[in-house]
Amino acid sequence: MKLCFFNNNRLGLVEANTVYDVSEALGQLPTSGYPYPQTDALITNLEQLTPEIIRLREGASSFPLNEVTLLSPVANPGKIVAAPVNYQAHLDEAIADPATFTRANVRKIQETGLFLKATSSLIGAGQQVVIGLPERRTDHEIELVAVIGKRAKNVSARDALSYVAGYSIGLDITIRGPEERSLRKSLDTYTVLGPWLVTADELSDPHALEMVLDINGEKRQHANTSDLIMDVAELIEFASQYYTLEPGDLLFTGTPEGVAPIVAGDRINARIDNIGQLSVEVLQS
Ligand code: MN
Repeated sequence: MKLCFFNNNRLGLVEANTVYDVSEALGQLPTSGYPYPQTDALITNLEQLTPEIIRLREGASSFPLNEVTLLSPVANPGKIVAAPVNYQAHLDEAIADPATFTRANVRKIQETGLFLKATSSLIGAGQQVVIGLPERRTDHEIELVAVIGKRAKNVSARDALSYVAGYSIGLDITIRGPEERSLRKSLDTYTVLGPWLVTADELSDPHALEMVLDINGEKRQHANTSDLIMDVAELIEFASQYYTLEPGDLLFTGTPEGVAPIVAGDRINARIDNIGQLSVEVLQS
């Protein structure tokens, strides 16, 4: 299934160029009192809700895909875990670029570890990236994103993919400079997720996906997830040694080479095999 959120927080099932409104399924989510769980309720209950989503598709209102506003396909991730430099060619370009290289922040992922992006930075493909600090260099980063489906703590790489609910395309928008990644990458709108979530049953091998990013039609990044230094399964093993991963948590797997600045007026197009393509506008605040 391809699941999206659209317009006024409607839940959509995407088939070809049509979105079916299956929001009624959200009525079956268990209600919880305060304090609310720090997990995404839909992803937590996705398996149980799937038959209802499929049932509701018959007779559902439908909309052409290009007429809806796509929001983040995961509404309430408890955390956004991200991999720093995780493609060798991007490591090489980061070391070569004086704007990005400091001994402290450009090292192999095994030494740097992971970082968190603020959940307040999350938007969907139908929303806009708003450049928050125009005087700073701000770059695009296309990334494969795994959405965690089950609580994961100390899982082995061998079992790790069974903890994934699905995959999506992520943009890890980044200010270059010496500050902590969690600061530079967490401005409002600097985490784009979309265009939808492809459930893991439809994407059995996340390690052979071509990805392409262009700005206004000019190709900037073109790579394959087969070149990940630490692959999705290894990242989950690594992350779950530190964090307890919860349903709805997002795992940004790192960007390949070709990162470059974006400015207001740009349109970012990002495509990953077996997921789809998102297109997002860049504005100035
Ligand atoms: Mn990144």
